[in-house]
Amino acid sequence: MSETKLSKHIDKDTKTKGKYTLNDFQILRTLGTGSFGRVHLARSIHNGRFYAMKTLKKERVVNMKQVEHTNDERRMLKLAQHPFIIRMWGTFQDCHNLFMIMDYIEGGELFSLLRKSQRFPIPVAKFYAAEVFLAIEYLHNLDIIYRDLKPENILLDKNGHIKLTDFGFAKEVIDVTYTLCGTPDYIAPEVVATKPYNKSVDWWSFGILIFEMLTGYTPFYDPTPMKTYENILNGTITYPDYLPPDILDLLQKLIVKDLTSRLGNLQNGSDDVKNHQWFKEVIWERLLSRDIETPYEPPITSGIGDTSQFDRYPEDKDLDYGISGVNDPYGSLFTDF
Ligand code: AMP
Repeated sequence: MSETKLSKHIDKDTKTKGKYTLNDFQILRTLGTGSFGRVHLARSIHNGRFYAMKTLKKERVVNMKQVEHTNDERRMLKLAQHPFIIRMWGTFQDCHNLFMIMDYIEGGELFSLLRKSQRFPIPVAKFYAAEVFLAIEYLHNLDIIYRDLKPENILLDKNGHIKLTDFGFAKEVIDVTYTLCGTPDYIAPEVVATKPYNKSVDWWSFGILIFEMLTGYTPFYDPTPMKTYENILNGTITYPDYLPPDILDLLQKLIVKDLTSRLGNLQNGSDDVKNHQWFKEVIWERLLSRDIETPYEPPITSGIGDTSQFDRYPEDKDLDYGISGVNDPYGSLFTDF
């Protein structure tokens, strides 16, 4: 493989190895669950600060053929340092599990706020879309496709700025790649059709995200995923009448089946999205420095491990964390952790 923008940083990356162990943390309640494990609130016994501890069961990762994705996730989270991307502090493993220590983002998922609000007023949707844009643009500049853009993966920090989380599907690519992954509603047609795809899948999902924020539903939704895929391939969208022309114009240029004519994937790349008339009043430099007032401040007390913005999950009474010294058939697959 040729040298990529990420591989140039690998030396820097290895410095986080061996920084933490399970004994450094007190594990508290579950904040969310993923396909391979759960995310806990955890407290450092050294500095008393709260973190999010993501755990993945090695066996499940291996059985679902996600070893490469998981190693990619670790590598990319470590390297991506951006105001709107979750910060990862370190990783470790025991016989059965992988652990990732990240900042605890207290404001909960944008998804929960959207469901509570049903739909966002235009300026609110525009604010979140613009912050998400900057995160995606940054990742694309590192040759990372995010691939899993959806409101569940956008968290709100204590001030109401966004943080992208869950890099389980992010992929470093130079040109095109083929694997099928992501959540049905947000998947681009070329991914559904297992055609080669590139960064423009994120611009498709970005269009779906804006659509969902403004309407409260996704344009290809169907209770059966197979039908959702069909709708995506079909590509017909009914835009509600209340969407003004500039939004309609943006969405009709992003949610475009032919990726060679999709906005974000043309000659000027992401600049075409950034310079679209819907974003005309956005002052990008101020947004990047988090100098724009957020539309909503999560009602939390910061720094005390407030979990009021997260749904309750049944706790697993039989956590198998911290077991070492027994046979670990998968240890060699996750040497970066
Ligand atoms: P993931 O498997 O990374 O998608 O995480 C599952 C869920 O855990 C997310 O949808 C969030 O609700 C929660 N979560 C993940 N990372 C964090 C974090 N750093 N801070 C707070 N909650 C998180």
